Amino acid sequence: MNSHVTTNAAPLPFIDIAAQRARLGSRVDEAVTRVLTHCRFVNGPEVTELEKQLAEFAGARHAISCSSGTDALAMLLMAWGVGPGDAVFCPSFTFCATAEVVPWVGATPVFVDVLPDTFNMDPASLEAAIAVAERQGLTPRVVIPVDLFGQPADMDAIGAIARARNLKVLCDTAQGFGATWNGKRTGSFGDASATSFFPAKPLGCFGDGGAVFTDDDDLVPVLKSVREHGQGVDKYENVRIGMTGRLDTIQAAILLEKLAIFEDEIAARDRAAKRYNAALADVCIVPVVDPRATSIWAQYTIRLPQGVRDDLGAALQKEGVPTAVYYRIPMHKQPAYAQYPSAGNGLPVSEALSGEVISLPMHAYLDEASQDRIIAAVRRALGK
Ligand SMILES: *Cc1c(COP(=O)(O)O)cnc(C)c1O
Repeated sequence: MNSHVTTNAAPLPFIDIAAQRARLGSRVDEAVTRVLTHCRFVNGPEVTELEKQLAEFAGARHAISCSSGTDALAMLLMAWGVGPGDAVFCPSFTFCATAEVVPWVGATPVFVDVLPDTFNMDPASLEAAIAVAERQGLTPRVVIPVDLFGQPADMDAIGAIARARNLKVLCDTAQGFGATWNGKRTGSFGDASATSFFPAKPLGCFGDGGAVFTDDDDLVPVLKSVREHGQGVDKYENVRIGMTGRLDTIQAAILLEKLAIFEDEIAARDRAAKRYNAALADVCIVPVVDPRATSIWAQYTIRLPQGVRDDLGAALQKEGVPTAVYYRIPMHKQPAYAQYPSAGNGLPVSEALSGEVISLPMHAYLDEASQDRIIAAVRRALGK
């Protein structure tokens, strides 16, 4: 491998949205122009078509598009009538939106620790969190497993606990859409799933967007009502408290073009992740994928001993290799969330990971030469 420092090479992107734009050619522009021509900017035909194709892709009976991943989570809590006195179990090591929607409906987030290898919800910690919630007089209602960095949470173990405790399972697959568990796609597990089409997610639009997936026929009209200000049969009758939760037609048109190449991109991401694993396993802890899972590699996240990752990030920055830290502060330590209960013991794994993790550039257009440059820079920075 090249040993000299390539400081004058152009900086690499963390996610290469421009490369995807180039690959799609004029297809996205034409799709947007079609919407600009028919002018059905809200609830247009592309929205209906996208929902059909998303449901097929995920293997779910229904896909309900919406304005963001955060709103997808909120719409489900609202549709289920989750509220004051209810406990909703969230991993502490996640993006804030997983827990943010819980106080929106007046319920209490209860933080659960994660597993050190997969970064996903620890079923034993979930059991402990349920006991804490009950001791505090809360009613356990919903568990939100997160498919962190693209790998599905342990649906078998979490599903078994949820069935035994009569909890709803809301899968937060904002980072995991396109991954599989036991050969089935995310979006087809639990009582419902929420995903995000934020541009940086594996399937992203050109703005904000999201979707809910469910097999529950009765939930669909409720979700659609929540999405449109709680409307009843008549548009101007309000039968519940809702929101403006729709996906723009323009974003749906863009997503239809991107969904058409998504399978291909999934394969490219997986190739890149496997090359990283092979080249870095001797210098850091590389990501571990459960044998029942495939990851969509929303992030490629390595672990280093405490105190090392920020120096690595600074050294890579000098070589034009961007990195990111997801997440520096676990949710139970965030100022706005520290008041809420957690499973106990200080959630040691979430706390340790928040000091160890760093993510390397990962996208479907990471060519081998760029990747080799990143790998060489990481090895050099770690003195290997
Ligand atoms: C991105 C993300 C969300 C929120 O999605 P938005 O579309 O940005 O609202 C929720 N949960 C997780 C785990 C995420 O990564």
